[in-house]
Amino acid sequence: MKPEKTYLDKLTPTTKAYKVKVKLKEKSRTLISPQKKTRYQQLLFEDEKGNTMRGALFENQIEEYESVFKSNQEYEIANAPLKPVLGRYATRDDDCQMSFGGQATIQPLDPEAKSFEPEYVPIAAIPRTTDLGDRFDVLGIVLFVEETRTITTASGVAHQVREVVITDPSTDQPLTISVWDDLTGTEASLLKSWVGPALIVGFTSLKPSAHKGFSLSTTMATEFHRNPVGERANALRKWSEEQRPLVLERMARICEVRNPAQHDEILTIDAIKQKEVGNTLQEEKHWIKVTIPEPERSRIVPYVGCNNCGKRTENDCDVSYTCKFCNKEKCIATPRITFKFDATDDTGEMTFTAFTQECEALFKLPASEIYAQITTGMFKFEPIAHHLSTTPFLLQIGPATALARNKILTWVPKAIRWN
Ligand SMILES: [Zn+2]
Repeated sequence: MKPEKTYLDKLTPTTKAYKVKVKLKEKSRTLISPQKKTRYQQLLFEDEKGNTMRGALFENQIEEYESVFKSNQEYEIANAPLKPVLGRYATRDDDCQMSFGGQATIQPLDPEAKSFEPEYVPIAAIPRTTDLGDRFDVLGIVLFVEETRTITTASGVAHQVREVVITDPSTDQPLTISVWDDLTGTEASLLKSWVGPALIVGFTSLKPSAHKGFSLSTTMATEFHRNPVGERANALRKWSEEQRPLVLERMARICEVRNPAQHDEILTIDAIKQKEVGNTLQEEKHWIKVTIPEPERSRIVPYVGCNNCGKRTENDCDVSYTCKFCNKEKCIATPRITFKFDATDDTGEMTFTAFTQECEALFKLPASEIYAQITTGMFKFEPIAHHLSTTPFLLQIGPATALARNKILTWVPKAIRWN
């Protein structure tokens, strides 16, 4: 049977004779399947109509097809066996993915094309928008590598993650890269042992994330190039040598901020006001010791909001719903509180907005109680106000995430501690 030209969205597990013209959008590292311990490589193809389809290479195929499949190259693929995609990975009925045994023929449309080289961009040139489809190659001096942590997603899957912080000459705000799963092993450990002004590393195919205001995250195609070549890499090496004291200072700042033992020093409001965008890091946290001389009842706002992101909802309390702000299913409509206040110490005054958790700590009442008392007219603010205005408490503050996104420095409450 002669293969018939078609598009990816028309293919099903039973399609036999076909050919498609596609671009290889993404090629993963070699991965190990957690269940079967087999080696595999994922491919993501896109046709000219924008339809996408995955493909997979297993075990020896990974080496056999190494020189055939190159990122961003175009191919005509015919009769590659189609395997059904089932369960939550399926994007449509009859969804399928390509495998490459049997009668598959793969014709590169530009056989002369060179292998894809990373296109490194300066940190400051990465747009602070979060289009999850964007991919960036970034070159940086590695200032800090975190220990591996395990986090569990909403769907119950455990992931390993560790953050890598890098810098370059384009900005004084360092960039955080969240490194996931297999890359947290040897790859990240090597970075940790060599961390410092001489460690210039290229990170490819990173995707943007709203974590910590703005950061990047590794993808299945990300690779670490520990000895990057080219003009940009050489220029960065030269800059790092010439600016050694500056780079060491940036390193010391990150270590200081990331070391919780040093977070207990109490600063004055005046000292906080001296801080500027150029010398403040997104992860910084400081304690100040303050009172609220004139707490105002009118600045307490009770409302019903999402238990995950805090955004307001029209639903009644305890109703389960899909939140359109955080896009999470099964959010619970929950009582939330905000309270705006002017805090003072001997050196000055600053205005803050406390959110639900801090309000609970300030008023020493659960949010559900505060909400219920206010909405039923039973709330007694006078004793609370008296306490806030006469008893100093410790307020931990940190920069709002607008610092990483827009280089705007405003301080927000992070925690409250009564002595
Ligand atoms: Zn939400």
